[in-house]
Amino acid sequence: MFLRESLARLFACLFLLVPVLGSGILAQSTGNKAVATASAIQDDPDFARAVKEWTTRPEFISPLVDHLPKAAGIPSPKDILGHHIGEPKKLTYYADILKYYRALAAATPRVKVVTIGKSNEGRDLVVVFVGGDESIGNLENYRGYLAQLADPRTVTDAQAKDVIDKAKPIYHLSGGLHSGEVGPSEMLMELAYRLATEDSSLIKQIRDTVIVSITPVADPDGRDRNVDWYYKYGINETEGRTTGAGVPYWGKYVFHDDNRDINYSQVEMRALLDWYLQWHPPIMHDLHQAQTLLYTFSGQAPQNPNLDPILYGELPAMANFEMSQMTKYGMPGVWTHGFVDMWSPGYLAFMSSNHNGMIRMYEIQGFSGANTQKMRLGNPNGTGANGVGGPAPAGGGRGAGAPADAAAAVAGRGSQATRDWFRPLPATGEFDWSIRNNTNYGETGVLTALQYTSQFPKIILENFYVKSRNSVETGRKETVAGYVIPAGQRDMTRVERLINLLRLQGIEIGRASAEVKLTEGTFPAGSFIVKRDQPYSRLAKTLLEKQVYPDPTLRTYDDTSWTMGLMSHAEVKEIADKKILDLAVEPIKTAEIHLAGALSGSGSTIAVAHTGSNNMITLRYRLKDLTIQAAEKEFKQGDVTFPAGSFVINGDVARVRTEVEKLGLTAVALPSAPQVPLHALDLPRLAIYSIWGNTQEIGWVRYALDRFEVPYELIFKERVKKGDLRGSYDLILLPNQGGSGKRLVFDIENRGQPIAYKKSDQFKNLGMYGESDDITGGMGLDGVAEFEKFVKSGGVLVTLGTASYFPAEFGLAPKVDAARTSAQFYAPGPIVNAEILKPEHPIFYGYDKKMVPVRYANGPLLSVQTGVNPFADGPPPPGPPPTPQSVLMRYPGGDDQVLSGLMRGAAEIRNRAAIVDEPSGKGRVILFAGNPCYRWQNFGEFNMLFNTVLNFNDIKSEPAKPATTDTPAR
Ligand SMILES: [Zn+2]
Repeated sequence: MFLRESLARLFACLFLLVPVLGSGILAQSTGNKAVATASAIQDDPDFARAVKEWTTRPEFISPLVDHLPKAAGIPSPKDILGHHIGEPKKLTYYADILKYYRALAAATPRVKVVTIGKSNEGRDLVVVFVGGDESIGNLENYRGYLAQLADPRTVTDAQAKDVIDKAKPIYHLSGGLHSGEVGPSEMLMELAYRLATEDSSLIKQIRDTVIVSITPVADPDGRDRNVDWYYKYGINETEGRTTGAGVPYWGKYVFHDDNRDINYSQVEMRALLDWYLQWHPPIMHDLHQAQTLLYTFSGQAPQNPNLDPILYGELPAMANFEMSQMTKYGMPGVWTHGFVDMWSPGYLAFMSSNHNGMIRMYEIQGFSGANTQKMRLGNPNGTGANGVGGPAPAGGGRGAGAPADAAAAVAGRGSQATRDWFRPLPATGEFDWSIRNNTNYGETGVLTALQYTSQFPKIILENFYVKSRNSVETGRKETVAGYVIPAGQRDMTRVERLINLLRLQGIEIGRASAEVKLTEGTFPAGSFIVKRDQPYSRLAKTLLEKQVYPDPTLRTYDDTSWTMGLMSHAEVKEIADKKILDLAVEPIKTAEIHLAGALSGSGSTIAVAHTGSNNMITLRYRLKDLTIQAAEKEFKQGDVTFPAGSFVINGDVARVRTEVEKLGLTAVALPSAPQVPLHALDLPRLAIYSIWGNTQEIGWVRYALDRFEVPYELIFKERVKKGDLRGSYDLILLPNQGGSGKRLVFDIENRGQPIAYKKSDQFKNLGMYGESDDITGGMGLDGVAEFEKFVKSGGVLVTLGTASYFPAEFGLAPKVDAARTSAQFYAPGPIVNAEILKPEHPIFYGYDKKMVPVRYANGPLLSVQTGVNPFADGPPPPGPPPTPQSVLMRYPGGDDQVLSGLMRGAAEIRNRAAIVDEPSGKGRVILFAGNPCYRWQNFGEFNMLFNTVLNFNDIKSEPAKPATTDTPAR
């Protein structure tokens, strides 16, 4: 490298003197054969000069990236974009990024661009391949080799050895998953060009032995919106004068959670997964930016014990190689360990580890724009703010509106300036940081990772094969031999979704051809069988088992549980009986299954059984022009039991039949209406309220409603302040947002100037999903008053998760108190039991058990005043306080009620209300302490929210407290 470096410098000098000489001529004119062999292509002196200028300190660059070839006929980034990568105050829109890669691919056989789908907003999603002429020319062969290694059942060990001899690892790089982390998507263009054109021995070696594939921008919609925001606001920011507000949206629905999308709901993530399962890159490397100055992931504890132990050797090996190489170049602040752990399988690049490959990740120092900014790091001899060695606080990177990765970085900066065993050369002191520094760090790191891969390509491939083979073999040997998902469950639509989500990730599932008898029980023919002697057996176990968190003293970066059966309220039986491996099954060959519904009987009144399917609400909206009623009590027709909440529909049997079949529901046509009380299922005028500073959790609810075809209006403070909410809406839903009532009401702080979010000719990506002349200030107390009027005049206000602080703290539900857990309490997304206290309440239509699993969402600890005067003299009455009528569901609390994952301090939630239904004036407030619509995940709870929507004006209070009675004045 250093030889290459000095030669490059020599070249740069020569070219300044003889800029007109072509490379071939130069080789002759110098008469130096060694020089000519080392590089037949000249470097670009303009690049070297610019990069030197933009790099804020000499140690912030390496010999790998301080030069760039100027290859005749092949466009460099500057040739297309007009500037070198890393120029201050320059960010590239996605269309220009694509333009660059396509121009590069058109000019060299070493680059190929394939389109893999479309983003939510219609942008092309692509993967760019870069490699030697031979590699790119024979990509299909290389794809075939990796497919063979990915499924070890197709080859013997001897054959695998032959395949490994011929194969090359694909190393996948991905930038721009988080739109505020702008640098890597710029850097990757330069990297692609360098890999295609440079003739140094290192680059040649990489080109010959590795195929690099690139996701230029994982969330292109968010990229463009963030770039718009930067050019509108960020570019003018200086130290001490910032707008204080980020762009209200990245992608259509979510911010950072595109890296937590465990079920691949978002089209961009799904397209990459589909691509992955066709190409099987053994390594996927996701480039983020937040940590100081470059953190390289090594998979620290807590670790998922299902994954192959080999992986836990590979991860630190590569990370340590990068750290030592970059330290050798004199680049400070490169570290590993001590940040992200290896617990949740939901991060995007985890698709690789989940499929026997290797997830890799960087956090590179950077900002959401391209301004050069001052950084101040702690005293190297001082103690870090976080205490060194400990993992970063959970919550970092889980951010909603604000880039929480960045917040975590700030919190960690004190400790990041300290030397430790995993940070041998910390960055310290005060310095400017530029986007070119970010490019230098990212590109040097990635080239170093590629150097490692090119040194050991066969080891990488062999490990990939052995991990795949081990996955099949451990599946045969381990205690858990498979899973049965029984046929004939009460609601098969959630079973169908669960099966399809497993299939989406490539997990093999079969249907039992006959009744199944195993030690664990007897299951009907047609039951779904997941055998563990398959390449993705580890993933199947990870997704289906209950998560047993290894050490309650450890914190983690995201959720501790995701058990799919519990999340779906579907029965999934873990099987130890090895006979499951030999069961005769009909393999599911299609990507998805569809379990058709059925309408039997004859008559013009149709009853549709409500057994908890989320598709009931879709049926209601698809048939919105028909009169549909809900049965308030259970009834039977022949063999079919219709639980309370079942639909009774009159007329248009043919249309109802079509939809019932499509939606997988069970219906019977009756000769006459059932003799039970019924109420009409009117459709509410539904609004979702969103603050501007934190739109992600609202985005998940929007996504779910869109998927289930529930129309709504998304409203902001602008609409609330106009007043007369009752004139426009029947039900206003406040998804989890803000973190407190105060934040929900006052939202983004105003720093003296309005911050508009509006579309213009120049900024076409702003003003989408809502628009505002000024996103700061929140709805304020005037807005609170409008919400109060809405409720008092008959509106239904529904609050989820932390939004439930709002009605409690601002008096809209005066009897409800919202407290917080202690500092010791720690519950990163466990699944816990919740007890239904009012099973007859419409919210619980379709549920048949008293105790249901719910994801704990860290909302408020709700309690309802029971009418006992707390200021009265004398001791309180003996015994536990009565449970108020308005508490519909509660958390029993305690360690034994934690079903999956970690809840530290589980006694703190004992008997706290999980759902409260408080009448207020003519309306009511329904507070969920949890989040019944969390990401695209807790499908078993969605129905509680959907029932609330469908029965919004049929929720009756207890006789003792009729809805017409006003609550006492505050
Ligand atoms: Zn990130």
